[in-house]
Amino acid sequence: ATPTALLVGTGRGAQLGILIKGPQVLESTRRVDTVVLDKTGTVTTGHMGVLGVHPAPGESLSEVLAVGGSLENASEHPIGRAIAQHAAASGATLADVDGFTAHGGSGVSGVVGGHAAMAGRRRWLAEQWSLTAPAALVAVADDAEALGQTPVWVGWDGAVRAVVVVADTVKDSSAAAIAELRSLGLRPVLLTGDNARAARAVAAQVGIGPDDVIAEVLPADKVDAVKRLQDEGATVAMVGDGVNDAAALAQADLGLAMGTGTDVAIEASDLTLVSGDLRAAPDAIRLARATLRTIK
Ligand code: ADP
Ligand code: MG
Repeated sequence: ATPTALLVGTGRGAQLGILIKGPQVLESTRRVDTVVLDKTGTVTTGHMGVLGVHPAPGESLSEVLAVGGSLENASEHPIGRAIAQHAAASGATLADVDGFTAHGGSGVSGVVGGHAAMAGRRRWLAEQWSLTAPAALVAVADDAEALGQTPVWVGWDGAVRAVVVVADTVKDSSAAAIAELRSLGLRPVLLTGDNARAARAVAAQVGIGPDDVIAEVLPADKVDAVKRLQDEGATVAMVGDGVNDAAALAQADLGLAMGTGTDVAIEASDLTLVSGDLRAAPDAIRLARATLRTIK
C-alpha cells in the first residue's frame, strides 16, 4: 500500500523492511533527537479485546450489550470492533444505528432502538449530559486505567448505563525498540488520545517515564503536540499508524508509518516500517546515519 515509496539507502532498507520515499529523507533522519510514538497500534498491537462489561446498578447486562454493541458495530475504531464482536459473541442481537457519528478521539453516538446512545470517554459523555457516574463504575474505571486498560463509558437517554473495559497488549518488541532508540541518543515520547493513567501504565511497560507521556490528546491536537516539541528545539521523528496520526506524521521532521497501519498514515510519512515491528525505527535511523557516513 505504498505507491509513492521509493527505495534508496542501498537495498539495505528493503532488507530491514523499511521503505524510504526519497534520498532527502536520510538527511532529516540524521538530525532527529526526539521520537514521538503513537500508543495504540504502534507501541501496542491495536487488537483490542473486551475484559469486562460492568452495568450500573439496576441496569441489565443484556440491554447494555444490545445497545452498546449495536452502536459500536457501526464504528471502525478497534475499540468499537472489539465491543461489537464481544456483544455478538455474548448473544446480543445487533440493531441498525440511526445518525451514527464518530467523534474523533472521544467516542461515538447514534440512535439505537429509539435510544439516544453514546459510548466513549467519561469526560466527553459528561460534557453532553450532566451525568452523575455511579461510584461503583468510577471504581471499575479507575482500576482499569491504573492497569493500562481503557474504560469505555456507555449510556443512553441521558444516563450512564455501564463501563466496558477494553485493552490491547504491548507488542513483544516495543520495549527493546525503545531501549535501542535511547542507545542511539534519542528521547522517546509517548503520544495518545487515551487516558493519562492508561498511557502512563503502557509507558512504564516499555521503559518510558511519566514525564515523557502526552495523553488525552484529541486527533486534531496531535499535530500541535509535535509542533510544541519542535518549538522547544527538538528535531522530531513521529511513528504512527492511524488516520488520527496523519497530520502529526506530516508535521514531524521525519514521519514513520507502521506498514500495518492505515493508507493515510503511510501516505503522510517519509518512511514505512513494513512489518509493523517498532524495532525497524531504530534500524532506519541507524541505516540513515551509516548511509550518510558512506556518502560524505
Ligand atoms: P490513540 O491516540 O491511542 O490511537 P484514539 O485517538 O483513536 O487513540 O482514541 C482516543 C480515545 O477515544 C480512546 O482511548 C477512547 O477512550 C475514545 N474512543 C475512540 N473511539 C471510540 C469508540 N468507537 N468507542 C468508544 N470510545 C472511543
Ligand atoms: Mg494509533
